[in-house]
Amino acid sequence: ATVLAIETSCDETAVAIVSDRHVCSSVVTSQIPIHQQYGGVVPEVASRQHLEIINQAIAEALSQAQIPIAKIDGIAASCAPGLVGALLVGLTAAKTLAIVHQLPFLGVHHLEGHIYANCLSEPKLEPPFLSLLVSGGHTSLIYVKDCGKYETLGETRDDAAGEAFDKVARLLDLGYPGGPAIDRLAQTGNPEAFALPEGKISLPHGGFHPYDSSFSGLKTAVMRLVQQLKQNSPVVPVADIAASFQATVARSLTKRAIACATDYGLNTIAVGGGVAANSGLRQHLQAAAAERNLRVLFPPMKFCTDNAAMIGCAAAEHLNRGHTSPITLGTRSRLPLTEVMQLYQH
Ligand code: ATP
Ligand code: MG
Ligand code: FE
Repeated sequence: ATVLAIETSCDETAVAIVSDRHVCSSVVTSQIPIHQQYGGVVPEVASRQHLEIINQAIAEALSQAQIPIAKIDGIAASCAPGLVGALLVGLTAAKTLAIVHQLPFLGVHHLEGHIYANCLSEPKLEPPFLSLLVSGGHTSLIYVKDCGKYETLGETRDDAAGEAFDKVARLLDLGYPGGPAIDRLAQTGNPEAFALPEGKISLPHGGFHPYDSSFSGLKTAVMRLVQQLKQNSPVVPVADIAASFQATVARSLTKRAIACATDYGLNTIAVGGGVAANSGLRQHLQAAAAERNLRVLFPPMKFCTDNAAMIGCAAAEHLNRGHTSPITLGTRSRLPLTEVMQLYQH
């Protein structure tokens, strides 16, 4: 199926045209420069900005794809989870297009999009596989059983991986968003310079949870380290701290993903979300997986962070199975991935 998809869950206004797993066009307008002055995303500002440019983004996606709307089989938009006011802009635009052109409408779970981003570079990918979802709001290990059928095996107990990158970057005065800045700086630092704690979740009867993670302790450890170093010298070795932090996160995520894939007998790990762009994670996970004959997939760099092509890919998957959403579908700030099928009448 050929789908026009819209993504407005946070601070990217994105529209794409996707034909099953082939991207015909992908327009992503980031609001990062607008939110930078506040050091993070301001929800009200995000909604307004989406509204300002959504029509132009739709027109641009159609013109870049050179596909007339008559050749489109369905209109999709992310509807959960995310900022409700921001989601509402994309969802309303998609519903309007669907009504005007009498096309099926589909609401898409944003995280299902991050999972399906892997199919854009690996079109033969089919469940079952393990998904390591590492984004600004999530750190999850998900057993992908089928399109729409997910089981969450591991989660973060506090900060998400991307959130940890953003918070540590703020501590180091690297600006927003922090992930790309830390990644860049880490290239020039020594990852062994500082020993930092990898957060572990204790189990009530001893031992540690094998798949759950925690990053708030790591963030605090970096904060203490910076304070301590500042007492001795005004010049803080920022690159070494960034490299050590990044290596700790990469080791922690790699350990959990490998354990999970091995325990559940899944030989493919598909990574998704903004942190999938991280070079440290890519290196660590590739190396560890190769040792165990596991296959690791990463989406193309530009489809790791938010985009509409991944939403279109997930939507096409559902539409091919006859799943469509009621036009009355609303937005949800939270929605467990296990409840995705609530979005469809089938
Ligand atoms: P969610 O998908 O959970 O709703 P989100 O949509 O805000 O959250 P994404 O767009 O998937 O998150 O990812 C953004 C996050 O990815 C930010 O926290 C950003 O710092 C992080 N990120 C982006 N590039 C990199 C990188 N190279 N290394 C580490 N982190 C990165
Ligand atoms: Mg974003
Ligand atoms: Fe996202």
